[in-house]
Amino acid sequence: MSASLVAPIGDLADYRCLDNRVLSQRIEAVRQSLGNRLLILGHHYQQDEVIAHSDLRGDSYQLSQMAASSRDCQAIVFCGVHFMAETADMLANRPERLAERDGKRVTVVLPDLAAGCSMADMAAIEQVETAWEDLGEVIDTQDVTPVTYINSAASLKAFCGRHGGIVCTSSNSRTVLEWAFQRTERVLFFPDQHLGRNTALQMGVTNDQMPVWNPYEELGGNSEEALRRSKVLLWQGHCSVHQMFRAEHVQQFRNRIPEIRILVHPECMQEVNDLADVSGSTGKIIQTIQAAPAGSKWAIGTELHLVNRLKHEHPDKEIHFLSPVVCMCATMFRIDLAHLCWSLEHLAAGDPVNVIRVDDETTRWSLIALERMLNCA
Ligand code: SF4
Repeated sequence: MSASLVAPIGDLADYRCLDNRVLSQRIEAVRQSLGNRLLILGHHYQQDEVIAHSDLRGDSYQLSQMAASSRDCQAIVFCGVHFMAETADMLANRPERLAERDGKRVTVVLPDLAAGCSMADMAAIEQVETAWEDLGEVIDTQDVTPVTYINSAASLKAFCGRHGGIVCTSSNSRTVLEWAFQRTERVLFFPDQHLGRNTALQMGVTNDQMPVWNPYEELGGNSEEALRRSKVLLWQGHCSVHQMFRAEHVQQFRNRIPEIRILVHPECMQEVNDLADVSGSTGKIIQTIQAAPAGSKWAIGTELHLVNRLKHEHPDKEIHFLSPVVCMCATMFRIDLAHLCWSLEHLAAGDPVNVIRVDDETTRWSLIALERMLNCA
């Protein structure tokens, strides 16, 4: 992809020396020159300066779907984290789409390759494969459906595709677990134990039927008996952002503002989730605030940038951040205007950097797991 450049390309370090006003102008110049051949996606947790330049704003799956349905786009710059860019690459370049474009791939760029996800990193494919083998010594893995949260590496989605499993999001996790239980007795849920536990509890599964699998211990730190009794095996992973919200934060708000409503993401721990008035995905959190009456009071347990944006966009409602400490997605925050401008100008010059490309075999199996989700949700 090439377009007339408005400025010479330098090293990333050169971009870091520029102030935000200059970076914004250069970013907009690239957007103008590439037009609808370029799609900049901004995750809801992204900082405002970056969101201001995005064509679409959404959660990880919404953004990938939007990217996948765009007809003209030749390049996607994903202002999110690594697994999101992988999903966008797989969906935008799935076989039927490639056929429509005569095999021409959509280039997917992550402006900073260090923008990973601490939760996704808590389940490495080698660990999951080892766990599957070890489980097979105790229970029949033919009777286990592996379910991966979309916040996971493509290799894990492919694992699910290969083993009759499926992907879920925070908005369809219950539907996906119901699908799984129609097929098998048990589920292995990774990488987020909290989403798995909070969802399964709503379905009547009890905590003693949900052992946690620690990949660093023999049999995940469980007895054979606990594994045989299990309904949902929960991987010992969590989101470092949502795990910081505590039950005492809920209590403090209720003591201070009795009419407060507590709204949290299901990646929060069970103690927090159980105390909340509403628990739901990023999309549900946004919709709940949009639909709330003027004057209503809310304390929200999710990523700081999103809560601050909701506060700003809904001045008629009283919105608080649930935690007294800063809980932000530090890895997503790595993507700043300097990285965005640097990657965009390289893209425009036909020399893309930080391209995310999932190999064909991983893509094939991941798409199977993603399609199972789409068909059941
Ligand atoms: S908020 Fe949590 S789950 Fe989401 S990208 Fe950041 S670390 Fe990962």
